Amino acid sequence: MSQKPAKLPRTDMPCQAPAKRITNFDEVALGYTDEMAAAEASRCLQCKKPLCRQGCPVEVRIPEFIAEVVKGDLCAAYDIIKTTNSLPAVCGRVCPQEKQCEGECILAKKGESVAIGRLERYVADKALCSNIVPGKVIPKSPEIKVACIGSGPASLTCGGYLAARGATVTMFEGLHEPGGVLVYGIPNFRLPKDVVCQELNNLKAQNVDIKTNWVGGTTVTVDSLFEEGYKAIFVGVGAGLPYFLDVPGENLIGVFSANEYLTRANLGRSYNFPDYDTPNYAGQSVTVFGAGNVAMDAARTAKRMGAETVNIVYRRSRAEMPARHEEIEHAFEEGVNLLELSAPIRFEGTEAGRLCSVKLHKMELGEPDESGRRSPRKVEGSEFDLPTDLAIIALGTRPNPLFIDATPALNLNKKGYIVVDQESGETSIPNVFAGGDIVTGAATVILAMGAGRKAATVIAERFLGEIK
Ligand code: FAD
Ligand code: SF4
Repeated sequence: MSQKPAKLPRTDMPCQAPAKRITNFDEVALGYTDEMAAAEASRCLQCKKPLCRQGCPVEVRIPEFIAEVVKGDLCAAYDIIKTTNSLPAVCGRVCPQEKQCEGECILAKKGESVAIGRLERYVADKALCSNIVPGKVIPKSPEIKVACIGSGPASLTCGGYLAARGATVTMFEGLHEPGGVLVYGIPNFRLPKDVVCQELNNLKAQNVDIKTNWVGGTTVTVDSLFEEGYKAIFVGVGAGLPYFLDVPGENLIGVFSANEYLTRANLGRSYNFPDYDTPNYAGQSVTVFGAGNVAMDAARTAKRMGAETVNIVYRRSRAEMPARHEEIEHAFEEGVNLLELSAPIRFEGTEAGRLCSVKLHKMELGEPDESGRRSPRKVEGSEFDLPTDLAIIALGTRPNPLFIDATPALNLNKKGYIVVDQESGETSIPNVFAGGDIVTGAATVILAMGAGRKAATVIAERFLGEIK
């Protein structure tokens, strides 16, 4: 007798072997075959009231698209996903599914959830390979010009939605390549750049004009855009200014913010030096501070750059690490070590000013703080030294002042993030909208996309509704 779907084990994702993958920057997770996808899709119970959908910030119609995978109609599956998610090949790879759709899957209550993210990636990859273009194309309305400042997932979603509805969209990106964190932050081994590139090409095919090396607040401003006839502006500039530890010795040669380290590797292709011009700062004993996705990406990049030892220093314990589960597991498989319940006191350097070690102390967990996590406190007399020639600080980010300082009419909250109307995403300046990390603080790709879509819906209703 065949097993009930709920009893079938979750289908594993084939991956590059750890010993091999630390020698290259190719994608680690290799994707489902047709047979694997069919097997995994058949586990879905097709719940009448799907909780997984409620767990997804953009409410992808999950059981419906999975039913099409079971039937083998991938065009239909892709069409269904694209009605609410404009970057499924990205989300299928990087969403923290265990806290979102898969966390709510009824199968997760008693065993293993359906691998929704992996199925979403499978459908999207198939569609990108076969150039399936979903949805109908609406004629352009040259008189309705919309500007997006920044080109991360928030702007890409906002711009894509409006272009598909006929607006003339121009995107202004400060860096020399568009894509935001998808390009400069998340490494190729987790999110291949050709996947992002294909999504960008889809936008360009919708006539979105992406201008790079344009900095909002200097080369282009809110006032100049309105003077040029733009009807609405979406601000999706992210929050890319790093926090530091604020301990002595942080200015030694060899101490990097994760932003700089990852941008050099990903955007500057330092791993391909000298084929590319960005030099790689190679460390043999690398210490990474932090335990989120950014810390995992930095640690795994250092390993691939040839480090002998990579330690992650975290003041809480493994159970509290906020990174995606899969990234934590992959990092440990690759030989990254965790020094949990540890925190830095100071960095120490050579006479030449180069980092050579970091002094740490042990921590213990006390009562839960306002975030619900047990707060760490210092264990007196527990100091120890860790030899280190490269330190990477991944403690989070805050807003970059470039655009904000040049736009004083924007209302900001106490932490410097842009305040928006919750329903519309509109800022204190009429017809200027904002979304993504610049509003929420560092969050997730899918939340940034949800914010871009919300603002785009309001912009479309306000300006495109009148063109019939
Ligand atoms: P961003 O992606 O930051 O894009 C903003 C863009 O605006 C950038 O291209 C920037 O150059 C540009 N810009 C900034 N200022 C200006 C200006 N003045 N003028 C013009 N352009 C400007 N989330 C997940 O869901 N899963 C993950 O696995 C994950 N991993 C991550 C790993 C790393 C290393 C990092 C840094 C973040 C990660 N995140 C992850 C978080 C996620 O990437 C962000 O929440 C998301 O990218 C925010 O999107 P955004 O569009 O608001 O901004
Ligand atoms: Fe899950 Fe993210 Fe896809 Fe939503 S977009 S279904 S949360 S993987």
